[in-house]
Amino acid sequence: METICRLCPRDCGVNRGQKTGFCGMGENLQVARAALHFYEEPFLSGESGSGAVFFSGCSLHCVYCQNGDISGGGLEEGCGKLFGIEITKERLADIFFELKAKGALNINLVTGTHFTPQIAGAIRMAKERGLDLPFVWNSSGYELPETLLLLEGLIDVYLPDFKTLDEGLASKYLHAPDYPKVAKAALEQMVRSAGPMQMDRSEQALKESEDGLMKKGVCVRHLMTPGNLKDTIRVIDYLADTYGDKIWFSLMSQYTPMGVFPFEELNRKVGREEYEQAVDHVVARGLENCMIQEGDVAEQSFIPAFDGEGVLTE
Ligand code: SF4
Repeated sequence: METICRLCPRDCGVNRGQKTGFCGMGENLQVARAALHFYEEPFLSGESGSGAVFFSGCSLHCVYCQNGDISGGGLEEGCGKLFGIEITKERLADIFFELKAKGALNINLVTGTHFTPQIAGAIRMAKERGLDLPFVWNSSGYELPETLLLLEGLIDVYLPDFKTLDEGLASKYLHAPDYPKVAKAALEQMVRSAGPMQMDRSEQALKESEDGLMKKGVCVRHLMTPGNLKDTIRVIDYLADTYGDKIWFSLMSQYTPMGVFPFEELNRKVGREEYEQAVDHVVARGLENCMIQEGDVAEQSFIPAFDGEGVLTE
């Protein structure tokens, strides 16, 4: 990897062999969990599960982070020691095969932006050794197009967040007023890189999920936050105007307050009425490739245990 790290928009310029940057990570891959995961969109998790690799550290640090134990979420500056186990890229490639042996439908790389070069190396190794599962890039959307280019030809499905289009909210919640601009450019690169969407609707795939399984394409996630319906409507409009049904859109309602926040609105869950108004807008915009969550808002936790499962040699 580069000696001086400028992999993400934080542009720290630190030598990660000697110190950590805003993401909290040094130069070695650090992984908190590698296991089957059943809580992604059904066309990724199916019945068999997605092979999720959760990387430690994050370059965003949302105040409301739902994975704070491993990401350093909530912190405005670089964080201290975060949970995770250091591994080599060779070991990461082995993990991909172990997940396949457990029945994973794909390899789901969660929040790996700050390790992009090492992850690209591991994917290459795995492909050379014959791994034939789709690779999913599951990220915050706060990424540079030039860093994403390192993944060109290696990633099949991009699964980015699109958190907000409001610079004020981006500053207040993400410590990143440039998030809207950065996320738009990153998404453009992802849509270009993934190419036309491909869904597997074979009999076998339809047993996994009623929509089949996504083999190539982009699914954009928007986690609604309480009291910010106006911003959600803007995000829906932007995605509908720019991409329409070229992408999937996943409207998420499971925001859970993970502490007591100085921003009053974040101390509650998203209301059923707010969520339904957002769903009505999706319908009004005619978006067909849209995942809506059914049942009570935020009724269940989708957060797995970060306990090092599957990281070391079995
Ligand atoms: S990847 Fe980490 S060290 Fe590199 S620029 Fe981003 S936050 Fe800074």
